[in-house]
Amino acid sequence: MSDAFADPSMVADTFRSIRESLVVTAHPDDESFGLGAILSSLIDRGARIRVLCFTKGEGSSLGADVAELPRIREAELSAAAAALGIDEVILLGYPDGGLSDIPVSELADRVLAAVGSADALFVFDEGGITGHPDHCRATESALVAAHHVGIPVLAWTISEPVATSINAELGTRMIGRPSNEIDLVLHVDRTRQRTAIACHHTQSVGNQVLTRRLALQGDQESLRLLTRAPDSEDEADSPRSPLGYTRLREA
Ligand SMILES: [Zn+2]
Repeated sequence: MSDAFADPSMVADTFRSIRESLVVTAHPDDESFGLGAILSSLIDRGARIRVLCFTKGEGSSLGADVAELPRIREAELSAAAAALGIDEVILLGYPDGGLSDIPVSELADRVLAAVGSADALFVFDEGGITGHPDHCRATESALVAAHHVGIPVLAWTISEPVATSINAELGTRMIGRPSNEIDLVLHVDRTRQRTAIACHHTQSVGNQVLTRRLALQGDQESLRLLTRAPDSEDEADSPRSPLGYTRLREA
């Protein structure tokens, strides 16, 4: 649904104009495994980045032998955020694996409470990249909140060839986008992302899927500018309209 924003220069301008952003994620590590290189590139450009993470990641199948997983993952997130240069982390305690049971309006309110003077929100792509329902819910809530305050939502995505390869090789069900649905391709330095990934020790050690995805992505990251979610049943039946933000705030 990003066809309305097919003008890549407009999306590039949006990206370059960001002075402050709130990243809306479901799990500790999403900010690093998924968005890390994009965020460190924004931070290098002088942007202030904050992260809102809905769960403490206690439902992870990795590190499940660790009884203190939520506490450990909180510390991992804190270290990873410092490695990336993130200004602030807001970690909430919604149930990992149960985010889609929480009303979108409630989660959107949490985003609104944290949005401050952000110029834009960053999220995982619709479909959640891995298909995780928590990822999808986090993105939905960000779309609703962004619509209220009139700011754009930029979504981290992966290309269809990357998804197809990794799915074939490792049996994952990643959702990639064809090039005509990708609004902006960035060339990134992954140095700080890799440091941040290492901070998420319980989730990254021996994580074949992550290692392979990063290898397939090389130095490229892809973004989509999302249109807002329908507010009501009525609106859900009509074609989705482009997000009606006017312009980014002046720095
Ligand atoms: Zn996640």
